[in-house]
Amino acid sequence: MTTQTKDDSLEKIAAEVKGCPLCKLARTRKNAVPGEGQLAARILFVGEAPGRSEDEKGRPFVGAAGRILDDLLQRTGIDRSQVFITNIVKCRPPNNRVPEDDEVAACKPYLERQIALIKPKVICILGRTAYTSLLGGSTITTNRGKIVDKEGQKYFLTYHPAAAIYNKSLLATLEADLKKLANEIKEEGKGSMEDYL
Ligand code: URA
Ligand code: SF4
Repeated sequence: MTTQTKDDSLEKIAAEVKGCPLCKLARTRKNAVPGEGQLAARILFVGEAPGRSEDEKGRPFVGAAGRILDDLLQRTGIDRSQVFITNIVKCRPPNNRVPEDDEVAACKPYLERQIALIKPKVICILGRTAYTSLLGGSTITTNRGKIVDKEGQKYFLTYHPAAAIYNKSLLATLEADLKKLANEIKEEGKGSMEDYL
């Protein structure tokens, strides 16, 4: 990754995203959603795109999928305020359609800059859109629940929390996966809460 971090900051990225004109989603969004969380986060969660609630509020995962994610984080002992949460594209696609390739490509530098600044121990990929964009993969079912290394960056793959809205049986899998992720991170730290989140 060639992303320049000198003089860059999460605040600067957020300000640019909020006024970004770089793809057609700029014309239909209400509020761009840069993402939120800690610069020192050890886990970076990456979803697909803002939905209606996120577009209204300018914040990630605050609607139905967000409630599922919050509940999962709580159950697995991951503190939402200690991680960073963002999406592959920062603006809502009309009717929540899947982001198109040109939109993903236009938006990618923002995520790359966020990754370069945060330097997360693990990037937790939520669902297929993020999986395809970050690792070029497509089958979540057979690859989820484990850490993979690509070019010195660790990734962890699981389902998108919204998938559990329609298929409740995925909830248990998501919870088991996130528990595993929490344990992996914990083992790397020195044991205290502040060390591993
Ligand atoms: N779904 C996503 O992928 N991201 C959000 O921020 C909300 C719902
Ligand atoms: Fe810019 Fe990304 Fe929003 Fe497109 S989705 S307008 S590239 S911030």
